[in-house]
Amino acid sequence: MLRGIVPALLVVCLLPGCNRPDDPVFRDRFYALGTLIDLSLYGANQQQQQEAGEALAQAFNTMHSEWHAWEAGSLAQTNTQLAAGRPFRPGPDILPLLQTANRLSLQSGGLFNPTIGKLIDLWGFHADEITALTPPDPAAIQELLARAPSAGDVALEDGHLLSRNPAVQYDLGAFAKGYAIDRGIELLQSLGLAHAIINAGGDLRAIGSHGDRPWRIGIRHPRQAGVLASVELSGDESIFTSGDYERYFEASGRRYHHIIDPRTGYPAGRTVSVTVMHREAATADAAATALFVAGPDGWAEVARRMGIGYVMLIDDDG
Ligand code: ADP
Ligand code: MG
Repeated sequence: MLRGIVPALLVVCLLPGCNRPDDPVFRDRFYALGTLIDLSLYGANQQQQQEAGEALAQAFNTMHSEWHAWEAGSLAQTNTQLAAGRPFRPGPDILPLLQTANRLSLQSGGLFNPTIGKLIDLWGFHADEITALTPPDPAAIQELLARAPSAGDVALEDGHLLSRNPAVQYDLGAFAKGYAIDRGIELLQSLGLAHAIINAGGDLRAIGSHGDRPWRIGIRHPRQAGVLASVELSGDESIFTSGDYERYFEASGRRYHHIIDPRTGYPAGRTVSVTVMHREAATADAAATALFVAGPDGWAEVARRMGIGYVMLIDDDG
């Protein structure tokens, strides 16, 4: 499935400017969830193209503002209520979102832990600009670790949420993109579209095919410009990568990236990137983060527990 090194030429051009009258693929692009979202549609008529582009952008904008990790929205309200320790009824979209996140977290043995928002915030990653950060006080990290927030602390019953641990604060940065792409694909299917890709900065779900050939996807090289490998997808498949190069700062000659090992409170070591293929984007997204944390020795066991069949891990030896 994974092919060797291929020239960057093979990566499908996803710029909206690439729409040519003779091109069977329609492309659209908008900004949401902290990244550019590219939509590709094969074999759609003009009305479907316009409808899909508008509906998808609107849906992603709503998900972006409601599920933001540090701006006001329904996830922020949920966090406030959880910290208060009283049962409450969240908005209708929040329950299935958190239910899925909690299930994946338990499957990952807590390595994907969406409840460590306070720790992510302590590191300073709840900001758009992070290059000037320095590592937090080790005592503050230990204090949060000792409070051990986990998905198991949150009960979801009869449409109500309740946290037994006031240290629980949801941050869905490792998972919301995948979950949103799954909702986006459902939306396209409801509009009668069977051949499409929703691509959020290289993390994507592809359905159907590019006419009589599969969709062809480039996987970015973690340390150089261009692609490391290409993969052909058809049917229904997602591919997600978590890397130490996506969001990080440097201090005293060390790289501190945004994927935190919930066991230590520090950025997970020994992994450079993990690419996961799975049908559902939400699972692929959560698993890429969990396997990154599990690292070169632990990834296979966590992949098995999460039902993941295809993984590419690049360790710090390259
Ligand atoms: P990206 O979305 O940049 O491709 P990830 O999917 O791995 O990368 O998500 C990283 C983000 O997830 C971090 O910015 C942080 O908000 C959150 N996060 C960091 N470590 C964990 C973890 N162990 N479990 C769950 N979420 C995490
Ligand atoms: Mg992820």
